[in-house]
Amino acid sequence: MTVDTVIAGGRLVTPTGVSEGSVAIDDGTIVAVGHEASLPEADRRIDAADRLVMPGVVDPHVHIDEVPENRAGTMPAETAAAALGGMTTFVDFAWQGRDRAGTDEDAGLLDGIAHKRAKEDESYVDYSLHGVLSRETEGTLDAIPEAVEEGVTSFKMFMSTYPVGVSNGFVDSAFERIAAEDAVATMHTEDPSVCEHLAERLKREGKGDPQYYPDSRPDYAEAMAADDVARMAREHGVKYYGIHTSCRQSAEVLSGFQGDGSRIRAETCTHYTALTREIHESRGNLPLIAPPLRTDDDVEAMFEYLRDGTLSVVSTDHSVYHREYKEEVENWWDSPFGANSAQYSLPVFHEVAVNQRGFSYPFLVRVMCTNPARTFGFPEKGTLEPGTDADVVVFDPDETWTIEETENASNATFSLYDGREVTGAVKQTFVRGQLVVDGGEIVAEPGTGRFVERDLPDWSE
Ligand SMILES: [Zn+2]
Repeated sequence: MTVDTVIAGGRLVTPTGVSEGSVAIDDGTIVAVGHEASLPEADRRIDAADRLVMPGVVDPHVHIDEVPENRAGTMPAETAAAALGGMTTFVDFAWQGRDRAGTDEDAGLLDGIAHKRAKEDESYVDYSLHGVLSRETEGTLDAIPEAVEEGVTSFKMFMSTYPVGVSNGFVDSAFERIAAEDAVATMHTEDPSVCEHLAERLKREGKGDPQYYPDSRPDYAEAMAADDVARMAREHGVKYYGIHTSCRQSAEVLSGFQGDGSRIRAETCTHYTALTREIHESRGNLPLIAPPLRTDDDVEAMFEYLRDGTLSVVSTDHSVYHREYKEEVENWWDSPFGANSAQYSLPVFHEVAVNQRGFSYPFLVRVMCTNPARTFGFPEKGTLEPGTDADVVVFDPDETWTIEETENASNATFSLYDGREVTGAVKQTFVRGQLVVDGGEIVAEPGTGRFVERDLPDWSE
């Protein structure tokens, strides 16, 4: 028997350990793991000596091509960025009305799913979708089981200050329906009323400089909303996943709901582990994200709560804007929110967690690969187990390089990590056995990715 590929002689990183070994891949699947001499002959041999061989990154929080008036992100560009960053699977969002603006009033959630699913041929990596519930109607609730049938097994809602936001009353009803399906609920948690009032005050005071922006969305407002939502989730027994946890206060709240058997998990994002609000002084509106960047103490809190498992995933919240949209405005409140990081998330988090704080490689694999795959129902992803998808990253942990935004594959023409020196670089990325990145370059055509219908995840493990 001859197989397609052997990745030979690397340090294999699994959620539980590191060992010397090789990986045999055939027909898109990992078929064997062991010493090279014990593996079948291969058509292609990738030398991974002195390199880490790990599962591809699974990112459950990515936004691509969703704001009609600002279509900066396209599937080929953003999924190329993902592949270059070692990301082989992500979860994007499907919208009622097809896109974030709800452009088509006759289109429901299933149309939104079909709209994004049709972009499969443009993607370099695999992806799935969260269903966004943005209309407070019975029809929205009825779409939940239909979406689950289509392999969309998680749902997101926004707080009421967003144009796509819903009331807490609707969230309560939606949690009940999501729980009945045994699907996963997620929610943007920042108390809308507090944030709105503080923003209005800053506007009245003429504080349009972006250094004031974080004051409009304080940590306690995030914690208040996290508490409201976690309480409703516990009441309904729904699997709840807290997205973009950014601060100590919010992580404390979530931690308090995890000891009592309720089904609550949470993520932070790379930027909350690597950046603080001071970056606005040098980068202006570019780092405007929601929740905002916070303090050194909050950064350390993210690591404390990652260590104790309150936070079990590190995502990107990758969002795409041309820099003009953020820079050609007078005040921060005229700038869109969001920043891209798919291409740099793995090397940056490797730098801040492993290199700077001594976290292990298995930890890196747990929070960026295995935990997100298990939390969101991808049994074939986030692992090097034989029989699963051959989504594999070869990573050189010793290569030192400087991130430059001019190298972005994303259509977003800036990076919050521009000029940052990191040690650790993605060398090869395989998507179901297909070599998509080699030597830090894209070597495939778009269409190597596909849409994945997800299972209902089992959170009892
Ligand atoms: Zn987001």
